[in-house]
Amino acid sequence: MLQVYSAIPPYIPSHPPLPEILKLKTDLLGNFNSPFELKQLHALLIKTHTPLSSLPLTRVGLVCALSPSFAYAQRIFQTVGKPQIVVWNSCLKIFAEENSPQDAIFLFYHLRQVDVLPDDFTCSFVLKACANLLDILNGRIVHGYVEKLGLQSNLILQNMILHLYALCGAMSDARLLFVKMPQRDVVTYNIMISQWIKAGNLDMAYDLFSKMSQRNVRSWTSMISGFVQCGRSKEAIRLFLEMEREGQRPNEVTVVAVVSACADLGALDLGRRVHEYSNRSGFHENVHISNTLIDMYVKCGCLEDSYRVFEAMRERTIVSWSAMISGFAMHGQGEKALELYGTMIRSGMKPNDVTFVALLHACSHMGLVDKGWEFLTSMTRDYGIEPKIEHYGCMVDLYSRAGLLKEAHEFIVNMPMAPNGVVWGALLGGCRVHKNIELAEEAIRHISELDPLNDGYYVVLSNVYAEAGQWEEVVKIRKLMKHQGVKKTPGWSSITIDGVVHEFVAGDGSHPEAEEIFGMWEQLLVKMKLKGYVPNTSVVLLDVEDREKEKFLFRHSEKLALVFGLMKLPPGVSIRIMKNLRMCEDCHASFKLISAIENRHIVVRDRNRFHCFETGACTCRDYW
Ligand code: ZN
Ligand code: ZN
Repeated sequence: MLQVYSAIPPYIPSHPPLPEILKLKTDLLGNFNSPFELKQLHALLIKTHTPLSSLPLTRVGLVCALSPSFAYAQRIFQTVGKPQIVVWNSCLKIFAEENSPQDAIFLFYHLRQVDVLPDDFTCSFVLKACANLLDILNGRIVHGYVEKLGLQSNLILQNMILHLYALCGAMSDARLLFVKMPQRDVVTYNIMISQWIKAGNLDMAYDLFSKMSQRNVRSWTSMISGFVQCGRSKEAIRLFLEMEREGQRPNEVTVVAVVSACADLGALDLGRRVHEYSNRSGFHENVHISNTLIDMYVKCGCLEDSYRVFEAMRERTIVSWSAMISGFAMHGQGEKALELYGTMIRSGMKPNDVTFVALLHACSHMGLVDKGWEFLTSMTRDYGIEPKIEHYGCMVDLYSRAGLLKEAHEFIVNMPMAPNGVVWGALLGGCRVHKNIELAEEAIRHISELDPLNDGYYVVLSNVYAEAGQWEEVVKIRKLMKHQGVKKTPGWSSITIDGVVHEFVAGDGSHPEAEEIFGMWEQLLVKMKLKGYVPNTSVVLLDVEDREKEKFLFRHSEKLALVFGLMKLPPGVSIRIMKNLRMCEDCHASFKLISAIENRHIVVRDRNRFHCFETGACTCRDYW
């Protein structure tokens, strides 16, 4: 107590004017940091006849909660006449929300020891602390209290417990609770949906989603993003259109998900519409959205639009730069890709492994073997990035395109990791262009082990033989495919007209306008033959007569889509086609001719790359 006296200025006993005391109090009242200082203040209040209620009680609680002075604090609350649990709850809230969730749990145990009865708030703050710490053990104990205290009807608490279980990956507990809950709201469903998606169980998530009587933007967005993440972009878009019909306003996360789905499917019209919506909603500062837009426009074959988005960005990440560099490379504008890389380095941005894949693509396209080597060495030397199999694949592609097939082969043999089907496939592609049967055979030997069911490679090999006039070998490939059990992946192509996606499969006679399409093709064929077109039947790996082969060839899905586009889109409008497989040699040659005959800009995105046909040429320079 002596120290208390020493802390009191000498004028206190002589009753100084009131304002002085008040000043003293406000200074001191909020300024105690330990039970000891609190006790000094307490003494001062008694001395100055100040009511105890002027003490900030939450602070009293915080200072004493985890110390032996706990009981002292309790006595203060009793004296003031404030229910203890109310003060302790505000302490729990502060602990749980401000970086000391462990203290919240500790205080909770202490309260139980001294028989202070928890209420709804107590449980909610402790649950929050458990969620912060991913502490499912204590979470279960709080859940037990909630049951014992009869708080099951508190939906917020139930949702918090559900969230905790789901967050800690205890999905079976979460499910059990979900089933038992006396009532559920949109939050309850959203918790379960987003956790099922995280656990990779999209069907469970969708099942719940479809059972919801009421959905908010979060429910829709979780589900749409979930579909996109699992590569089910068509379903994502279908859901997005439904969301719009129900009058829900998409948020920034929704926009990112839908734009990625559009990129996947080449759904340019919807992509553009969402882009406009995003700008109208003031999302243009969102870097993540802009990056996704760049990627979408690149993948829809609209390089200028993607560059416009890139240029308008005030802040760019490495993802923005890499997407744009890769866009130039994919569209056959290697020079611009390298130029942009220079600008990026000057701006102080450091490249990552994705940037180097894009750069190697660009070099490959321009046949810059030395430059490619330079990048491959620079990535490890200057940036400490270990090359991955993609980078080696790019190098093989680079050699193969440049006609350095021996070097490509040597490079594969000396790679520090086992080559995959893509790496051998790059060599095979080179063998086709540079007519090297021997290495092509070696490549397919490896591919048939590494990627036995991919029929695309057999088509390429068949081409190599056909071009060399080795027809008996072409027959052998058919037998080999049969032997290996290779099934032809059904090819499809799609084209969007007036926002409607039209899908064509090879040989498709089911389209309502099939007759007109075939008729127009025959007319085109006459003009093409005048320009020297000879059907390349070697791409048809079927054991049928040549006339029959031609029939198959003429009904390849991308040809059907192109003719349909020519019928429906006015002159001058670009035709954009998506194809799930690699475009065959015959379709490629036909498209080049048609682009000149019809004076059309045609963009085809096949499994590997973009082909932009204009005036009889393609940007891939016949190498894909
Ligand atoms: Zn074809
Ligand atoms: Zn091409």
